[in-house]
Amino acid sequence: MSRPWNFSAGPSTLPKPVLEQAASEMLDWHGTGISVMEMSHRSRHFCQIRDEAEADLRELLALPDDYAVLFTTGGATTENAVIPMNLMRRHKELAIDFILTGYWSIRSFKEASRYGNVKVAASGGYSIRLDGAEQQPWTWTPPVQTWSVRQNASYLHMCSNETVDGVEITEWPVSLPRLKVKIPLVVDASSNFLSRPLPITNTGITFASAQKNAGAAGLTIVLVHRDLLGYSGINCPSSLNYTNIAKFRSCYNTPPAYSIYISGLVFKWIKNNGALENMEKQNRLKSNWLYSYIDSTEFYSNSVHHASRSRTNIPFRLYRKALHEPFIRGAKEARLIQLEGHRSIGGIRASLYNALPLSGVSALIEYMKDFEYRYG
Ligand code: PMP
Repeated sequence: MSRPWNFSAGPSTLPKPVLEQAASEMLDWHGTGISVMEMSHRSRHFCQIRDEAEADLRELLALPDDYAVLFTTGGATTENAVIPMNLMRRHKELAIDFILTGYWSIRSFKEASRYGNVKVAASGGYSIRLDGAEQQPWTWTPPVQTWSVRQNASYLHMCSNETVDGVEITEWPVSLPRLKVKIPLVVDASSNFLSRPLPITNTGITFASAQKNAGAAGLTIVLVHRDLLGYSGINCPSSLNYTNIAKFRSCYNTPPAYSIYISGLVFKWIKNNGALENMEKQNRLKSNWLYSYIDSTEFYSNSVHHASRSRTNIPFRLYRKALHEPFIRGAKEARLIQLEGHRSIGGIRASLYNALPLSGVSALIEYMKDFEYRYG
């Protein structure tokens, strides 16, 4: 049976060749007679899997050795607490500045407020109320020139792509020395990681949950500038201490070994398919196509400002709310799945990660046109 087109925001569709290779190696990895799930994380076989995954990732990102690559756990959510815990001794008091652009940066802001003194440096919400009362949709990203970062900020957090709201920060600040050493930029890149070349060397820390463009759930990838190692506070669990994870090459304790293996296969698939330059090209084509179609109709709408529109997660609505359920039901029948918007805002969301080809977007647009023809 052919696979459906899967628009999930994460865990999301994976490249078929990756799944096929994992299936073929499931019972016997490279003549060892055992599965990757069954091998010691200290074995030379697993070390080889981890080393290759790290080397391929470094090559894809052109990541210099100034950065440690950490394969860790807990998801991007946990990093919101783990980062302050790891930087605690770098400052008398942690002062954490935030760029708010949507659901995930708000979640990070709230979590960080448990560890430090937080402040909003810029916000893309018109009348956002942090007390959770009335909330306007997130539709734009504040330009870098308007960011007002405290001189004593310990770090500045931003979410480079808001998975729920479909808002992407395309322009990352470049003032390297200031941001990297004095005020490190910390980026939650979960949903646009590996979607295009990203200026990771502008950041002190870039982190991402793997279950979108980078593999399966369970693995969190953290790229940390080595200048930021060695400052963890006493409350930081040793298994989440970046210095330990870096020193033991992600094997301080048992890492999410199978997820690291799957990510390794995904990195090779990206390398064999034109690397990040081609991922960017494809993602532009796919998203431009869908946005142009949405903008051309009076039936569907996406309210994000053009310059801030995400290339990976595209939320949209039907002008006639009552048609939402029939749209989703019909889509499933047409084998277009996981199109429901995030539970916090509803609507529809099409996530166009690397493993979803142009033909998947074509199938979606065909379905949308047909639906409009039938109900419009
Ligand atoms: N940040 C962003 C941008 C995300 O998209 C997500 C997951 N959808 C998270 C954080 C949270 O990731 P996790 O559930 O793996 O902790």
